[in-house]
Amino acid sequence: MKVYLDSLHKIAYSTDASIYFEVPYGVAYPETVADIQVLMAEARRLNTHLIPRAAGTSIAGQVVGSGIVVDIKKWNQILEVNKEEKWARVQPGVVRDELNITLKPYGLHFSPETSTSNRCCIGGMFGNNSCGTHSLIYGSTRHHVLACKGVLSDGSLFDTEHLDESNPLIERILSQLKGWANDPSIVSQIEDAYPDKTLRRRSCGYAIDEAIEGGKIDLCNLLVGSEGTLAFITEIKVSLDPLPPSEKMVVCAHCDMLAKSFLANLVALKHNPVAVELMDGKILELSFQNLEQKRNSFFVEGLPAALVIAEFWGKTRDTIDAQATAFGHCPKFCVNDN
Ligand SMILES: Cc1cc2nc3c(=O)[nH]c(=O)nc-3n(C[C@H](O)[C@H](O)[C@H](O)COP(=O)(O)OP(=O)(O)OC[C@H]3O[C@@H](n4cnc5c(N)ncnc54)[C@H](O)[C@@H]3O)c2cc1C
Repeated sequence: MKVYLDSLHKIAYSTDASIYFEVPYGVAYPETVADIQVLMAEARRLNTHLIPRAAGTSIAGQVVGSGIVVDIKKWNQILEVNKEEKWARVQPGVVRDELNITLKPYGLHFSPETSTSNRCCIGGMFGNNSCGTHSLIYGSTRHHVLACKGVLSDGSLFDTEHLDESNPLIERILSQLKGWANDPSIVSQIEDAYPDKTLRRRSCGYAIDEAIEGGKIDLCNLLVGSEGTLAFITEIKVSLDPLPPSEKMVVCAHCDMLAKSFLANLVALKHNPVAVELMDGKILELSFQNLEQKRNSFFVEGLPAALVIAEFWGKTRDTIDAQATAFGHCPKFCVNDN
């Protein structure tokens, strides 16, 4: 394992894609799980913490801090793919789009996406509970994590598929969660305080509500979205979805007031789109000033106050055409991933 305490490394790792900046104690590149255990012990001795870092594309300073930044980009092995049961077991440094290139011949894909999917890693998506445009149908990363392995703050190992309940930390966290799950007044307090479960796209700290859902304790639900603060993840088992159908169409509703676009969004949702995106006039205006984006804006008529773009998928052009037309008589066009 390599560990660096020099200024060059520390400055290079003092920020991510966010506006935040803080010089870390050091930077480490572990090669084995045992290396991570050593780093955990060292962080405890120094009274500091580890900051697991994948691609560093976080925009809220998730991988910025005073502790030891632990770079896992080289942990990029796809360990197993089970086509029949539709899951893959990966190391946390596997890049999301690279996983999907490997999965394509199987007719499968890891469906949660981010705009950064060509560089962000499954470990980072796990940490942030990432999701993107198609969260309406695919949900977020949390909905796709079946199991994980990792290192806890005392250096002990865990595997959610074979939980060792005699491990003092695991025992403590499970008994806490069970205590909450079995107390109706706490359950109702949690339900009141947490966002509506029907929201497919949420990132709101520890998902205690989902970790104790229906009285069933699910440690993965707690760990996903915990931004590396509860455990250092070394392996992730994710569920896969069949590749989307070939026919795709987007409809672009042009709104003359921003308020109308919020209503148009609600109308779009009634027509079972796979994605709805809102783009306000300011973003459109800025995109017109960029040559590349101007070329991409061929479908925009005039300068609307907002655009609501709804996407529809189907097996045949006719089905999606009918769905898209039912949403509204707006400019529409077919899209093709290739
Ligand atoms: C232009 C742009 C567009 C974006 N669009 C989206 C979007 O559409 N949807 C979205 O959800 N996000 C988006 N993001 C944010 C970000 O790209 C995603 O959240 C991405 O999934 C982060 O992945 P990463 O590999 O860069 O993780 P990092 O930023 O390196 O880490 C993310 C979190 O995961 C933790 N982590 C990483 N590895 C581990 C590990 N092994 N064990 C435990 N914790 C770990 C980190 O500590 C950190 O808290 C966007 C960012 C940018 C800059």
